[in-house]
Amino acid sequence: MTNLKWEFDTPISPQFDDYYFSSDDGLAESEYVYIQGNNLQECFHSLTSPSFTIAETGFGTGLNFLTTWQLWKNSATADKTLHFISVEKYPISKQDLTRALSAWPQLKDEADQLLEKYPQLTPGFHKLTFDSGQVELTLMLGDVIDCYNQLTVKADSWFLDGFAPAKNPDMWTPELFQLMARLSKPDTTFATFTCARVVRDGLKQAGFNIQKRTGFGLKREMLYGSFTCTPDKATEQTVTSKKDHKVDLAWFRLPEKHSGPKTALIIGAGIAGCSTARSLAERGWQVTLIDRRPEIASEGSGNRQGALYAKLPVEPIPASRFHLSGFLFSSQYLKQHLSDATDIWSPCGLLQIACSDKEKQKHKKLADSDNYPATVVRYVDQQEASEIAGTAVSNCGLFFPDAGWVTPPLFCKWLVDHPNISIKTDTEITQLSHIQDNSQCQWQAESADKQQFTAAIAVVASAAESTLFEQLKHLPTQKIRGQVSLTESSSAIDETEANIQLECDLKTVLCGEGYISPPKQGQYCFGATFDLKDEASDIRESGHQHNLTKVSEMAPEIGDKLSGYHSNTGLTGRVGFRCASPDKLPIIGPVPVYDQFCTDYAALRHDAKIKINTTPTHHNGLFANLAHGSKGLISGPISGEIIAAMLEGEPLPLEKELIEKLNPARFIIKNLIRRTI
Ligand code: SAM
Repeated sequence: MTNLKWEFDTPISPQFDDYYFSSDDGLAESEYVYIQGNNLQECFHSLTSPSFTIAETGFGTGLNFLTTWQLWKNSATADKTLHFISVEKYPISKQDLTRALSAWPQLKDEADQLLEKYPQLTPGFHKLTFDSGQVELTLMLGDVIDCYNQLTVKADSWFLDGFAPAKNPDMWTPELFQLMARLSKPDTTFATFTCARVVRDGLKQAGFNIQKRTGFGLKREMLYGSFTCTPDKATEQTVTSKKDHKVDLAWFRLPEKHSGPKTALIIGAGIAGCSTARSLAERGWQVTLIDRRPEIASEGSGNRQGALYAKLPVEPIPASRFHLSGFLFSSQYLKQHLSDATDIWSPCGLLQIACSDKEKQKHKKLADSDNYPATVVRYVDQQEASEIAGTAVSNCGLFFPDAGWVTPPLFCKWLVDHPNISIKTDTEITQLSHIQDNSQCQWQAESADKQQFTAAIAVVASAAESTLFEQLKHLPTQKIRGQVSLTESSSAIDETEANIQLECDLKTVLCGEGYISPPKQGQYCFGATFDLKDEASDIRESGHQHNLTKVSEMAPEIGDKLSGYHSNTGLTGRVGFRCASPDKLPIIGPVPVYDQFCTDYAALRHDAKIKINTTPTHHNGLFANLAHGSKGLISGPISGEIIAAMLEGEPLPLEKELIEKLNPARFIIKNLIRRTI
C-alpha cells in the first residue's frame, strides 16, 4: 500500500514523484483526455451491444472511473452494463482515497459508493458491483503486464494513464502495447495524455492508428486512435510476462459466451447451486433450481453455523490466493447485502489459535511478511487473543477481523429469494441429456418420478452425487463425513442448570484443529469430525468427544462448560458430507467431453510440455460447480459469479491462472501427463 504525498489537495506518487492528475483541474482533464479522446459520450448513447468494456492502466484515485461511471449513468440505458477494468501496482490507502476524492463534490455520490466497497489491498482481481450490476469494476492489483495477462476479455476502449513515460519507463513497454493489441477488437479505441515517442511508436507497431490533438492544460499534445489489426492477427501474438513465461493452455480455453435463451437448470440447492442461481438471476436469467430434499441447503450446507475465513500459508500459492479472494468476496457480499441480518451471519472476527510451537512460529512469520495486509490478518499474543475471544484461549494466534460465522441454510434461502428463480424440491434428477427441441438444443433433466425440466444450460451442483450423471462420471470426488455438535435451543430444554452455565460469552469464532462459533440465540455449534470412507449418518458419542476435545484444546473454560452441559443435558449433533476433489480445490466450469479430451490431448502422455492448439470440446452448455469441501462459504458465492461471468462473456472475478486451477478438465490433463489414463 502506498502513502501519498500531498501538494495542498493534489496527490503525488512517492514512487514516481508525479501528479495523479492535473493540478489545474483533474476532472476536466479526465473528461478531455479519456472521455472525449475515446468519444465515449457518443459511444454510450448509441450503444447497441449489451455491454461496453473499458480497460485502464493505473487506477490511482479512481477519478477516471468515477467520471466514466457518471457519464454512463447519464448516457446509457439501464439494461446495459459498463465493465471498467483497471490495474494498480501501488494501491493507495482508503484514507488517501477519501482525501483525494473529496476534491470532487460533483462525483460525491459515486465516490461514496467506491469508498464503501474499496477492497482489501491484496494482490489479484477484485470485482466490485455498482448500481445493481449496471457498472462493474474489475480492479486488478499488481503489475500492468502480469494482470492484463490474466484477463480473458477484450476492451472496447483503452485509457492509457500511468504517469509520464520519462518518470515510469517500466510501464510503457512494447510488451504493454502488444498486450493491448491482444486484448483489443477491430476499432477498439484508445486515448492517452502523453505524446511521448515511446508511446507513439509502441502503439503504432502493435497495430494502432495514431492521431494527435492538443493536450490538456500545459501539455502540448495528446494521442488518441484505434486498433486496426484484424482480430486473427492480433490473437496470434503471444505476450509473455516479464516474470512468468505463460503458455496458452489450449485445454483450459473457455467456451464462447452463451447466446440464445437465458434459461438455466441448476441441480443441487446447496451454497454452490444457490449462489449460481442468484448470480444468473441477477443477470436476467430464468433459473430452475432443483433439489432432491424437501428443503434447500439440507446436506453439506445444512449446519447451523459455519466459519467464514480462509486459512493462509506464509507464502501465497494459487490455491490460497483463490481461497483468500473467495473469503474477501463473501465477506464483502454479506456486508453489502445483509448488513443487518444478524440471524444469517455475524462479522464477529475469527481467531486461528496456534496448535503447536511450530504453528506459532508460522503465524509470526505470516504476520511479519508483507504478504497480507494487517486489516485482513494480524498476529495476536495469547493475552490479546483471550481479550478478543472474551475467554481464556490456550495459545497465541492469528486474528481475522472481517471473518465470522454464517448460517448456511438461511444464507441460501436469502440467495434464492429472487423473482427469476423457481425452486423444485423433493425432486431427484437421475438423468441429464442434451436434446434437440424445436430446432434448439436444450438440456433436459429427468427425475426419478419421470418429471422433465428443460433449459438452455445446466449447472450440476450436487456435490459427490454429481458424478452419477454420465457426463460427469470421470470427475474424481470424495465424500468426507463431518459431525458437528450442538447445544439445544433453550425453548427445548427450558432454563436447565446446564443451559444457564453455558452463558459464557465467546465473542469471536475460534478455529484450530476444530472450530466453535459464538453462541447463536444462546446456543453453540462446534465441530467437526473428518471421517474418510464413512457414509453413515448416525450421530456418535465418539464424534461429540472429538469435538469437545478440540474446543478444550483452544479454549479450556468453554470446553469444560460444554463437557458439563453434555453430561447433564446431552449434546445433539448433525452429520453432513463434504465433497472434495483430490487437489482440494472446487470444480467450477464447463464440463469436458471425456473421450474427446483423451483423444485431442493424447500427445501429453509422451510429452507433458508439448504445444497443442486444439480447441477443447465441452458438453455444450453444461457446467459443474462442486467439490467445495468444507470451504463452501468462501468458495460458493464467488463460484456463482465465475459461472455467470463465463456465460455472459464478462470479465471473470479471478485471474485466468486461478480459473484454470478450478477447471473440470484439469484431472483428465493431469492423468494424461501421468499416463494413468
Ligand atoms: N487513472 C488514475 C485516476 O483516475 O486517478 C490516475 C492514474 S496515475 C496518473 C498512474 C497510476 O498508475 C498510479 O496509481 C501508479 O501507481 C500506477 N502504475 C504505474 N506503473 C504501474 C504498473 N507498472 N502497473 C500498474 N500500475 C502502475
